[in-house]
Amino acid sequence: MEEKKRIYLSSPTMHGDEQRFVNEAFETNWVAPLGPNVNNFESEIEDYTKCGYAAALSSGTAAIHLGLKLLGVKQGDIVFASSLTFSASCNPIVYEKAIPVFIDSEPDTWNMSPQALEKAFEKYPNPKAVVLVHLYGTPAKIDEIMDICSRHNVPVLEDAAEALSSTYKGKHTGTFGRIGIYSFNGNKIITTSGGGMLVSEEESLVKEARVLATQARDAARHYQHSKIGYNYRMSNIDAGVGRGQLIHLEEHKAAKKKIYREYEQAFSEIDDISMNPMNPKGDANNWLSCILLREGCRVTPYEIMDALEAENIETRPIWKPMHLQPVFAGCDFVNHNDSGISVSEDIFNRGVCLPSDIKNTDEDMAKITGMIKALFNK
Ligand SMILES: *Cc1c(COP(=O)(O)O)cnc(C)c1O
Repeated sequence: MEEKKRIYLSSPTMHGDEQRFVNEAFETNWVAPLGPNVNNFESEIEDYTKCGYAAALSSGTAAIHLGLKLLGVKQGDIVFASSLTFSASCNPIVYEKAIPVFIDSEPDTWNMSPQALEKAFEKYPNPKAVVLVHLYGTPAKIDEIMDICSRHNVPVLEDAAEALSSTYKGKHTGTFGRIGIYSFNGNKIITTSGGGMLVSEEESLVKEARVLATQARDAARHYQHSKIGYNYRMSNIDAGVGRGQLIHLEEHKAAKKKIYREYEQAFSEIDDISMNPMNPKGDANNWLSCILLREGCRVTPYEIMDALEAENIETRPIWKPMHLQPVFAGCDFVNHNDSGISVSEDIFNRGVCLPSDIKNTDEDMAKITGMIKALFNK
């Protein structure tokens, strides 16, 4: 039997411009280590996001790790972090032997709840930093969060790994916190095959990120080190891929938004299904389109995922909240609600990430929505 064409959640979409920049690197022998693609990719991200300064790194995780170091996070420090996220948001807190305290989501954007954050500050008045995620590309309640954090004088590290090109009140996500990060992992809105970016308005922080990312050499003729460094820089080849992708970022965003609208339209007649919410103050990149099933709904997320998988269609559960992860079992968590199930756990229980690959054809989309609707109309 012929294998059915795989429909992906979110796979790389290449255009040819990437090859041009990579070829240039080969022709000039700028294969490694750094080189013009890295410098240009950084300045192109600076121009695009108006972030101030940018350092190209080997991954989004590396960017979060260096970001925490730059904010002075050390052993024993408390760091507040969004619970509903991918573990890469929080693992670097533990690399530094700091202590994560997980903050619940609010239902309006699925991101960090300002109410839960306030409660967390009552319990832990002196966290070293707050890691704020913009889940699936939807901007968080940034005004409220920034206001709380500045009142407490605590810096925000914005994990905009999924949210490159999303804006909030016209300003790019990733540029609100003292430090922001983006990811160019293979399934993100643009890719370098693997990579990340650390951004900040403070040039000194970004310069220091570049130093730490290249083994922390002192400014001496010989190899001298006064700090522990890392090998976290992006290669000139990968940066070439990123430059080619960046040309097409707005196009990718428009295609992702179209996918979201198509799902929204297709499911508008089914009361049991709602879409992942948008922030009215923002413009999301709709990296992944997700659905939330009504409480007590007859169809379960796993039924939807299994049915689609049988047709070789990739879906994904909502990120399992960090406070429910075995590896973080000892960590504290602050619920948005006064009692009962948390908002993040509830979203995890009732949500599904749908295929959001911008190469999906109209036919693919019709197949996906048709199959899901059929489950509800049985
Ligand atoms: C992908 C992702 C990361 C990690 O980025 P990598 O480039 O894969 O290291 C961090 N946080 C979130 C929310 C992500 O989705």
